[in-house]
Amino acid sequence: MNTPERERTYGFEVFPKRDVTIVAGEGATLWDENGKAYIDCTAGVGVASVGHANPQVASAIGEQSQRLITCPGVFYNDTRARLLEKLVSIAPKGLKRAFLCNSGSESIEAAIKFARHSTGRHNFVCAMRGFHGRTIGALSATHQYRAAFEPLLQGFTFVPFNNIDKLHNAVSGETAAVMLELVQGEGGIRIAHEEYIAAVRDLCDRRGVLLIVDEVQTGFCRTGRMFACEHFQLTPDILCVAKAMAGGIPMGAVLCGDAVKPAVGMHGSTFGGNPLACAAALAAIDFMVERDLADQAIHKGAHFADTFGKSRFGRVRELRHLGLMIGIELKSKAKPYLLELMERGVLALVAGPTVIRLLPPLVISLEQLDAVVDTLGEVLSG
Ligand code: PLP
Repeated sequence: MNTPERERTYGFEVFPKRDVTIVAGEGATLWDENGKAYIDCTAGVGVASVGHANPQVASAIGEQSQRLITCPGVFYNDTRARLLEKLVSIAPKGLKRAFLCNSGSESIEAAIKFARHSTGRHNFVCAMRGFHGRTIGALSATHQYRAAFEPLLQGFTFVPFNNIDKLHNAVSGETAAVMLELVQGEGGIRIAHEEYIAAVRDLCDRRGVLLIVDEVQTGFCRTGRMFACEHFQLTPDILCVAKAMAGGIPMGAVLCGDAVKPAVGMHGSTFGGNPLACAAALAAIDFMVERDLADQAIHKGAHFADTFGKSRFGRVRELRHLGLMIGIELKSKAKPYLLELMERGVLALVAGPTVIRLLPPLVISLEQLDAVVDTLGEVLSG
């Protein structure tokens, strides 16, 4: 059996697979089993911001793995302590503590529990087109992919994104928190308006409602700031992060301000905060800071938009981007173009039916970005 046959036979097939077997990577390049190179504009769905096979992350994992891989939360651990301190030092001011977990969905699950526990209320207001994950709590906060799994958690309502009046009407005395992305990722790369976010913060403050910001996809330099909150001068009460945090090792975190008080027994996780993931995260964050990946995302995002914008490809309705979080809205379905791009050596994602989403490693070179624009031109200019 070859690799695809083996995965199809023994795997639990829930992904719409593409017919390629990826075996190696370096920076923004991936190779398949036949040695064909691809420019990777997926980055493991926004994970590999520091590049594939990042040497600093690899050596941190190697060193930590020979010293201590696992250590439950009931004991203190030196590597975990250093990561917690580092996370708080780079987070928006006012976020003072972090709970460590293993994925984006888990960070949302924890945020839901923390918000209920801290407010004594049960309801959440979330955004249409929002995406927060696939586990039952996270899916309850998500506007799509729900139908087959109803009934989900009670008390979640949805309002149009960027519409403060609708949010105002939806918040009640039973609302524990408002939960939002600042750039809706899966929902089509839709960027929050500055005045909307300021009004949301104000509304939450006035009504004693917590604001949960989901930066699982936007966090760790993707949008041109360490966290997208910085574009909005925003401090949420709870900030959820994951994806790029540990350079590809599974990890998530929930950063909390004073409104959320920890209590023993409130939550837990066997793997959350394990020293191996913490060492990877420390190395990945150091790399982001040393190389100023936030600044690179700004400049490379602007370079891409500039080059792409000059070309005026016929099938494109609109380009939206913040840093290197890029959405190309088409006049027709996006999926068929993914295959054409792959055949020409570019790996990309979709975000909703008509949007091609590009989340390249932030270390991608300008030459590679130019090659991506050329390849997009070949498939989108008709
Ligand atoms: N929140 C956002 C904004 C996401 O983009 C994702 C995943 O794409 C998640 C949560 C869920 O993260 P995970 O797939 O790590 O559970």
